[in-house]
Amino acid sequence: MEIEKTFIKTCLQCSKPITGRLDKKYCNDYCRNTYNNQTKRTADKQIQEVNSIIRKNRRILKTLCPAGKARVSKEVLDSMEYNYRFFSGIYRSPAPAKLVYFICYDYAFSPLNEEGENMALIVEKEDHFDEFFANPWSA
Ligand SMILES: [Zn+2]
Repeated sequence: MEIEKTFIKTCLQCSKPITGRLDKKYCNDYCRNTYNNQTKRTADKQIQEVNSIIRKNRRILKTLCPAGKARVSKEVLDSMEYNYRFFSGIYRSPAPAKLVYFICYDYAFSPLNEEGENMALIVEKEDHFDEFFANPWSA
């Protein structure tokens, strides 16, 4: 019958048809363990990749900011392949400045626009950076 075919499930690991309980996802413990280990490895790899991007961003900021504070043009960050998507934290300074700082561990940069030119204010991270977003809903 056509309807029965829709109930044939296959093992997430080896793709063989599963018999038995409807909620079974794997044919046996071996397939379940293998599948879970691979999923965990993939997740670990993605975490490592993001960590290494943030570490590279931090290295760039540190290189450009040897004295605690620096201003560079966006082109400099671009030329060093800074990845704006990833950071370890975010901080918005109170009014009137209201600068947004993208933190990479112990360094941070804030995008500025000065006379039409995209600049970055780079700073060594300050302790109060950790306080502002303790509760993002109250920000
Ligand atoms: Zn299987």
